[in-house]
Amino acid sequence: MQVHNNKRDIKADVAQFLREKKTIGFVPTMGALHDGHLALVQKALTENSVVVVSIFVNPTQFNNPEDLQKYPRTISNDINLLSTISNDIIVFCPTSEEIYGSNPISISYDFCGLEHEMEGKFRSGHFDGVGTVIKHLFEIISPTKAYFGEKDFQQLQIIKKLTEIEKMPVQIVGCPIYREESGLALSSRNKRLTDTQLKEASLIYRTLLEVKNSFGTKSVVSLNEWVTKQFENHPELTLEYFEIAEVSTLKSITKKDKNITYRAFIAVFAGEVRLIDNIALN
Ligand code: AMP
Repeated sequence: MQVHNNKRDIKADVAQFLREKKTIGFVPTMGALHDGHLALVQKALTENSVVVVSIFVNPTQFNNPEDLQKYPRTISNDINLLSTISNDIIVFCPTSEEIYGSNPISISYDFCGLEHEMEGKFRSGHFDGVGTVIKHLFEIISPTKAYFGEKDFQQLQIIKKLTEIEKMPVQIVGCPIYREESGLALSSRNKRLTDTQLKEASLIYRTLLEVKNSFGTKSVVSLNEWVTKQFENHPELTLEYFEIAEVSTLKSITKKDKNITYRAFIAVFAGEVRLIDNIALN
């Protein structure tokens, strides 16, 4: 397994792949890898001649310094895990200096309003940070296809917009949400949950499923009220937001329209740990 820490080395590999007309699949991650990440890597392996996985906890996308500091970092474990899938994966684990130089700052993007909805309301500057790091990584890796989880659906839509804005010739591939048996979406942050929080957090997916099942017959307003009630006075979980939104604009709605595709989005705190999830409704 090739592991590179600096741009120069990975760019040399990439230049060779491009000369050989190989297709490059790219999976950007922040590490603490789990089966959700590995599903993206597996898909990339089946669709490309070579696969690059980056592991980089990107400082510019954290609006909360404590969240950045506490984000799990398990690099050697991650590399071992990737080697169990394939020894041909190329891992890129840069320092912040390699990506940003001495000054980690974000480019200010206009993602046509996508950045102001949901996560954007609660995590100021987050999507500028995401857009900036992905632009830098795409420039280094020149991927043919890049793989992103629907777990971060808003991010997926924003990355698609980013490639339009930056005119980057890469195909963005969205991948389904990988869940625990309880239904809880796998997340690196789950490692920070207590056993009780982990158990209780399955309420998030159960709630989304119920919303999906009732979407055809109940009004958006009554679904919003019902979800709020599920978390009211909950001993372990606090609802930050629940929204039913149009897939293309991510704007939340209060009334359904027949020919529009919707998704439900939720953010919940379990203690200090922030969990997000979403589900397709129609
Ligand atoms: P992260 O390391 O959290 O930045 O995630 C790296 C990539 O893995 C992103 O595209 C995420 O959307 C994706 N991902 C994270 N968790 C899951 C999951 N449970 N199912 C599918 N994709 C996921």
